[in-house]
Amino acid sequence: VSKKKHADDLLTFLDASPSPYHAVKTIAARLEEAGFTELDERQEWKLTKKSKHYVIRQDSSIVAFTIGKAPLVDSGFAIVGAHTDSPCLKLKPRPAVQTKGFLQVGVEVYGGAILATWLDRDLAIAGRVTLKKSLESKIVRTDRSLFRIPNLAIHMNRSVNEDGLKVNKQTELVPVFALDDSAKAEDALLPQLLGILGVKQAKDVADFDLCLYDMQKASFSGRDNEFIHSARLDNLASCHSGLSALIEASSKESAATRVLVCFDHEEIGSESAQGAAGPFLPQTLERIVEALADEKQAFQRTLAQSFCISSDMAHAVHPNYASLHEPNHMPKLGQGPVIKANSNQRYATSGHSAARFAQACKDAGIEPQRFVVRSDMSCGSTIGPITAAGLGITTVDVGNPMLSMHSIREMCAAADVDKMVSVLSAFWR
Ligand SMILES: [Zn+2]
Repeated sequence: VSKKKHADDLLTFLDASPSPYHAVKTIAARLEEAGFTELDERQEWKLTKKSKHYVIRQDSSIVAFTIGKAPLVDSGFAIVGAHTDSPCLKLKPRPAVQTKGFLQVGVEVYGGAILATWLDRDLAIAGRVTLKKSLESKIVRTDRSLFRIPNLAIHMNRSVNEDGLKVNKQTELVPVFALDDSAKAEDALLPQLLGILGVKQAKDVADFDLCLYDMQKASFSGRDNEFIHSARLDNLASCHSGLSALIEASSKESAATRVLVCFDHEEIGSESAQGAAGPFLPQTLERIVEALADEKQAFQRTLAQSFCISSDMAHAVHPNYASLHEPNHMPKLGQGPVIKANSNQRYATSGHSAARFAQACKDAGIEPQRFVVRSDMSCGSTIGPITAAGLGITTVDVGNPMLSMHSIREMCAAADVDKMVSVLSAFWR
């Protein structure tokens, strides 16, 4: 597989995944193509040594695994975790708003978005609708520009460049949808929107989970096309590298049982039925052990042998703000995976788990970069500490370096895509 192929493929993956539901659908489709089959949480699981399966919860989190040759109690789980969600604007349950001849849609902010970056963008919509009676889900999207949050002219906001662009989430972050001051416009909005989304019978839709997304496709940029610009690099880039490595590795048997988990709801704290703080991963792992192992205390013994790589994007040093990084820990774009550590366990990394990841890097011929936040700044977090606390397994926090995290259009380096895939492949070999 050429270097360019993984980066090209990441662009395709990003464009196919405008919402967590689409990300899971994209991941599942690729797993199916690679011979994985879906398990139903409501059925009994019958697993064998050769099993390659995946299981989806709530349409937005997914666990995929390949059973290893060695007994689980001897080899444990080799886990890679990432998240499917990104900060965005979500449609309110009753979205229609009419003001001064405009028909607008009310949105809630999901996660820690840089709000100003959502202004003056061409916004489309994607997500899930739930049908009446059957309560069946349909994953839907439109590739048409439908919405925009217009910036205020500088003549009415003279100090914007000195004070920065502040946006009130309730009153100033209301996307415009149409010019319509008719009395029926508000009632007609949802059926119209569902029609545009290709739902034939709007009256059959009971409810929806829809988010706005940036129409602009992922692209290469820079003198040598060394950069990738896209929405949702945090953290679809890690879902993509985990998935690519799992599929590559799955053509060969390994001793350990490989597990890839991509969770929803990381950006809002992971507390949900399908989030990292919920029981999805522990229950799935327990069922795998129960289906395969006869040994006493097999689940706890397997966990004691397990290792988790929590993969989420890292902060590369920014050329215009280099002083905001710790001088000895300045990850560079294009220089490969970063091990993230924090003494207050905002990252799950220890010296021991860092050493294990560094070994996988060495096996792939790569030197990992290191990150700690400046001692006078507060540190972000990931699914790493949550997974470690929930399962009690050794965990390391890592990720590829990026800029503009949580902007509507983020940035990373094309060269890093292949590096992370090689390291995760080495881990799973
Ligand atoms: Zn993230």
